Amino acid sequence: MIPIRSSIISLILAIALFLGLVLLRLGTSEGIIEEARFLMGSTIQIKVSVQTANERAAAKKGIGRAFKEIARIEDMFSVFKEDSEISRINRTASLGPVEVGDEAFALIEKSIEFNKITAGAFDITIGPLVELWRRAKLAESTPSNQEVKDALSKKGSDALALDRINKSVSFKKRGMSLDLGGVAQGYATDRAIEVLKSAGVRNAIVNLSGDMYCLGRRSKKSMWNVGIQHPRDKNKIFLSLNLTDKAINTSGDYEKYFIINGKRYSHIIDPRTGYPVGDDIVSATVIAPDSATSDMLATALCVLRRDGLKVVESIEGVDAIIIMKVGSALRPVMTKGLKTRYNVIEKNGS
Ligand code: AMP
Ligand code: MG
Repeated sequence: MIPIRSSIISLILAIALFLGLVLLRLGTSEGIIEEARFLMGSTIQIKVSVQTANERAAAKKGIGRAFKEIARIEDMFSVFKEDSEISRINRTASLGPVEVGDEAFALIEKSIEFNKITAGAFDITIGPLVELWRRAKLAESTPSNQEVKDALSKKGSDALALDRINKSVSFKKRGMSLDLGGVAQGYATDRAIEVLKSAGVRNAIVNLSGDMYCLGRRSKKSMWNVGIQHPRDKNKIFLSLNLTDKAINTSGDYEKYFIINGKRYSHIIDPRTGYPVGDDIVSATVIAPDSATSDMLATALCVLRRDGLKVVESIEGVDAIIIMKVGSALRPVMTKGLKTRYNVIEKNGS
């Protein structure tokens, strides 16, 4: 009796153990969960690497919340939305102080800080010039020198008054306007990562078409491997590098350029001249601890070119690569630390 009963018990235990292992294996559901949505004028992709069933559940919850967060940031900073904080500032800040929320105030302050760091190359008071060139693109006709001069006279971060106590913003010149297009996507990337982290996600990529943050690792064995697209052939990779807990952002003339009378114009404006940056700079990629910083610096590097690399090198934890056009050849120039820190593999389009 006893041996038979104990062998039945052993059999039941063995089956239970086997089923348990099978369920555990199914439950680990190791892999990548990804979702893409269209927000902030571009396709946004979120990828989460999961090892366990708990991580899978956290990813599903986190991804939905992260997209909501990006939509919230778009509502706050878009110049195309009448109710955004930025549109509200632009409508009335010439008449007197406009109180803004803590978050908008902090991002405006950070933008002004980077205006100083970049010797004016990154400038959110560029609004009147962005608007002038947007109209030029639609009309397919370049503005006159006088129109550029007029728009230039309405720019200048020294004419932007920030009241830290009342959290208000006012313009010292009539016709001024802010444009946070050079930082809002980066900021939204950072916020999406924070939301993912608070949902329990530890390994993820948020990619806002060029603004990317790599959280943690792809797997136990490998870091996130990021390819920088070839500027003249989107099916090719120019170089690849390994990242963990870093933001990477590329600004260039190949995604959002426009053409007037056969000439190609960048969407980035040189605040010193009022004209789009020239075509000797093809792209600038910046790696930084956060995405708002890499976004602002990538825009600034398109204005500053090689001089901008010196600015980048003076900031702790930041590296960059610019791709210059020399004749018909593309020439990459990078900060000293980039190759050693990130295992850069130059593919040059292979
Ligand atoms: P990005 O693609 O991040 O380089 O941002 C470019 C966008 O930032 C443009 O579409 C404009 O809205 C705005 N922008 C253009 N030139 C500048 C500049 N020099 N400084 C700050 N923002 C700029
Ligand atoms: Mg930018």
